[in-house]
Amino acid sequence: SIVFLNNEFMPMEEAKISPMDRGFLFGDGIYEVIPSYDGKLVGFGPHIDRMNQGLEMIGIQFNWSHEQWQSICQQLIEKNGNGNLGLYLHVSRGADEKRFHAYPDNVEPTVYAFAFDIPAANIPDKSKVKGYRVATTQDLRWQRCNIKSTALLGNVMHFQHGHGQGYNETILFNAENNLTEGSACNAYIVKDGVVITPPLDHQLLPGITRHMLLDILRKHSDIKIEERNVSMEEVMSADEVWLTSSSKEIAPVIEIDGKPVGNGEIGDTWLAAQTLYTQHKHDY
Ligand code: PLP
Repeated sequence: SIVFLNNEFMPMEEAKISPMDRGFLFGDGIYEVIPSYDGKLVGFGPHIDRMNQGLEMIGIQFNWSHEQWQSICQQLIEKNGNGNLGLYLHVSRGADEKRFHAYPDNVEPTVYAFAFDIPAANIPDKSKVKGYRVATTQDLRWQRCNIKSTALLGNVMHFQHGHGQGYNETILFNAENNLTEGSACNAYIVKDGVVITPPLDHQLLPGITRHMLLDILRKHSDIKIEERNVSMEEVMSADEVWLTSSSKEIAPVIEIDGKPVGNGEIGDTWLAAQTLYTQHKHDY
């Protein structure tokens, strides 16, 4: 595939970074994944805004305009076949001469971007979407999960916890046994027709799919939404459980730790939500 590294497009095999890059040594960087279907990016503006906010939060002075990123994304889409693609954007603090924890002065950030295949957009049809089976575990990540950091070892270990047992994802609970999110997605329950999801704070990523979904439901439906703490008991007795991310859209969960969610089938509120999301996602 053709990738973008430090102002040049090149075949991935030719892309080389310094072994002293702080992204490599410390996971010291910020990334984004933006979905694109048939050449059309979804949520581009909010994704770039979140990346710029993350860079500012970790003190990387780098703020490309939406137009600059848009041009790189469009070129990556064209050079990689216009299909269903995830655009991975990555800015690390750059390569210093020595390995020293302090933020270095006068180091150029490393900018890397590539496109990868993602599943086709969800079809709002219960028979055409796979129900997720998930594991649970205690959320043992750090206290800055709102930052989309490239340092993902905590998320990787949590994902592997479920994956190693044959599950599709792992959902995480904090020390108070409240739901935070999934290892690579946000999480929701539905109870008596109300969509309930944990409030935005340091314990979870402010997902762009989450933002778009809640906005679409508020604008285009009567479905009630609550952003509040969700206990493990509520998750285990929910009518429906969903996960969202840029590459999953809204994924219905049908099994948690081997137990069925609700009646074990994909729910009607999922169908209503995915239908509206499919109709309106290109507004963002
Ligand atoms: N939470 C985590 C930990 C993630 O890695 C992701 C990204 O995939 C999400 C939530 C969902 O965010 P978004 O909807 O912006 O893809």
